[in-house]
Amino acid sequence: MELTPEQKDIKNAAREFAEGEMMEIARELDEKQQFDERLWQKAADLGFLGVFVDEKYGGAGLGYLEHSLICEEFARIDCGIAHAITSTFFGTQLISLIGTEEQKLKYLSSVCKGEAKMGVAITEPDAGSDVSSVKTTAKKTDSGYVVSGNKTFITNANRADFLIVLCITNPEAKKKYDRFSTIIVETDRPGYEASKLKNKLSIRCSDTGEVAFKDVEVPKDNLLGKEGRGFYNIMEFLNRSRLEAAGLGIGTAQGALEKAINHVRKRKQFGAPLADSPIVQTKIAEMATLVEAGRSFLYSTSAKVDRGELDHALIAMTKWYAAEIAVKVSDEAIQLHGGYGILEEYDVSHYWRDAKVLEIFEGTKEVEKLIIGRSLLGR
Ligand SMILES: Cc1cc2nc3c(=O)[nH]c(=O)nc-3n(C[C@H](O)[C@H](O)[C@H](O)COP(=O)(O)OP(=O)(O)OC[C@H]3O[C@@H](n4cnc5c(N)ncnc54)[C@H](O)[C@@H]3O)c2cc1C
Repeated sequence: MELTPEQKDIKNAAREFAEGEMMEIARELDEKQQFDERLWQKAADLGFLGVFVDEKYGGAGLGYLEHSLICEEFARIDCGIAHAITSTFFGTQLISLIGTEEQKLKYLSSVCKGEAKMGVAITEPDAGSDVSSVKTTAKKTDSGYVVSGNKTFITNANRADFLIVLCITNPEAKKKYDRFSTIIVETDRPGYEASKLKNKLSIRCSDTGEVAFKDVEVPKDNLLGKEGRGFYNIMEFLNRSRLEAAGLGIGTAQGALEKAINHVRKRKQFGAPLADSPIVQTKIAEMATLVEAGRSFLYSTSAKVDRGELDHALIAMTKWYAAEIAVKVSDEAIQLHGGYGILEEYDVSHYWRDAKVLEIFEGTKEVEKLIIGRSLLGR
């Protein structure tokens, strides 16, 4: 798929930013398990945040394809930093889609301009892949809701200014899926508590945490979308946010491939560079083909979503495939580095560690395949 000149410019600008600002600091942030917020500010100043958000609400009025290009280029250098930046507007997809005019004006422009950070809190200790088993409640009061419960694995739990929270508001609804609502909870409200999950395998500089909502009061206006539609809202959100995970996957795979190519060109064994070996050439060929196929898939699916052709099975395929090739290609990149591959200073193990989480969040690869299979089989 041929990108337009403007899309190529965006991709080049994202590459320049990632190479100039992230390359030097990536290993240090991974080791410290800490993000440097100055990178987020610079990304905001350069207009990389929420490019798919309408210009009226502070975005660039572009599409998911442009966002995928940015994710790809950022993750080519470092998936953790990429995630720490792009997750600050994780949820704008949903506010753009179903928010009221007031909510769009209030929340979207602040995150697109880099004045606020957000997140989406779905997962709970006993509700992971099975989103419909969420137990957090939002009890109705005269003025709004009281949110109570616990969430875990929440990106930006300790950084976000507000979260979109999936809660039960209509426990009496006959159909299980009709019991939920999505509610915006500001993190400075009394009763919000968060702690950091440390020593992760992947994307270590990106904040992941546990959240406790201890009877957090929010006004009526914080309801996002209609009561009882929360489960469906989250599915709509994932249909768009999975493209971001896919973009991170393609970038991670591309970065690992480039590391492998550099290494086999330099490393000599049996009196010749490894790159002269037909076995090595075959491996590089296979890796590059996977990346190219995944990239085409990502671009074409993103472009379809931008045209309003939303095929949830195709989106699930794109995310699953991108994550799988990120793991495969970075694994092979370690193999081509031999013993050096498992040393942090050669970076390929870092790519492989980061790639793994892409097969888990935003729907595990098994869940993605269930979505695809059910859709094809009409179940
Ligand atoms: C770094 C990180 C960041 C995250 N950020 C967020 C966030 O911002 N917001 C948020 O809400 N969540 C977030 N998550 C949570 C993530 O979405 C969940 O981890 C994921 O959905 C899987 O849920 P689980 O971990 O409970 O695993 P489980 O659902 O317990 O699954 C365990 C295993 O069983 C498999 N499995 C489950 N059900 C089935 C089935 N029916 N058939 C076959 N196999 C099955 C799964 O595929 C998986 O392999 C994050 C997770 C991580 C690791």
